[in-house]
Amino acid sequence: MTDADRLPATLFPLGDDLGSVSLVQHVGDDKMIVNAARVSFGGDNLAPLDGKDERLIRYLLRHHHGSPFEHNLITFKVVCPIFVDRQMVRHRVGVSKNEISGRYVEMQERNFTPPRFRKQAPSNRQASVEDDGTLDQEAAARVWEGAWRAAYGAYQELLALGVTREQARGVLPQSLYTESYYTFNVRSLLHFLGLRDHEGAQFETRQFARAMGELAEPLFPVTFREWRALHAGE
Ligand SMILES: Cc1cc2nc3c(=O)[nH]c(=O)nc-3n(C[C@H](O)[C@H](O)[C@H](O)COP(=O)(O)OP(=O)(O)OC[C@H]3O[C@@H](n4cnc5c(N)ncnc54)[C@H](O)[C@@H]3O)c2cc1C
Repeated sequence: MTDADRLPATLFPLGDDLGSVSLVQHVGDDKMIVNAARVSFGGDNLAPLDGKDERLIRYLLRHHHGSPFEHNLITFKVVCPIFVDRQMVRHRVGVSKNEISGRYVEMQERNFTPPRFRKQAPSNRQASVEDDGTLDQEAAARVWEGAWRAAYGAYQELLALGVTREQARGVLPQSLYTESYYTFNVRSLLHFLGLRDHEGAQFETRQFARAMGELAEPLFPVTFREWRALHAGE
């Protein structure tokens, strides 16, 4: 094993070198999913995954037999803007999270700046559309940078005045990066990906969901292949 093998696989979903998703650990594989299902009739076994097993995974997914997909875990370290994290924490079932504490430590000056600003979608009150050339990108970038620098500066000033970290963090912007460990099982991860690696999800959150899917897919290749086939075109 080389040093590179020991390092967690890391992706940078937003194209800066700040936001990242790292695969920290995993337990289980496609065969475990099959065995969890086959134990119902005493058919679990140690043989390598075969065609019958693959067909069973397809059947389980098609018929929403979710519990066999829960006997595993995948832990990611996610460094994302607070506004992305706020969407991720809405996923309550089968998801464990621990996050850096702004009470314990001083929040680092790590801020997400969109490489390109989007416009409000005309037909969907939640969604955005690409700039059609009418948005002053430079002005938007200037306002964005001025706002987060002022906010982070205020945070530093409050700390210098002796204000406690737990109060001073109140002036920090949602674009600041936070970091967490997130552990999913395959069932909860597929549910999360169905909602967040989807065109209805916010672009930035979708990039994080997609990175998590990309890291998990080689660990459960048959499950992901069948799940993607089932949801193709949605
Ligand atoms: C595109 C998009 C836009 C969104 N917009 C908003 C918004 O404007 N405002 C907002 O507040 N949220 C919004 N959300 C969050 C959304 O409402 C869900 O909270 C989030 O997607 C998590 O989904 P979930 O509840 O299915 O997941 P989980 O919390 O992981 O739950 C998984 C499943 O468990 C079951 N379950 C969980 N809790 C309960 C319960 N209490 N009772 C019964 N069954 C339960 C359900 O079957 C659920 O699907 C949005 C999500 C998306 C993807």
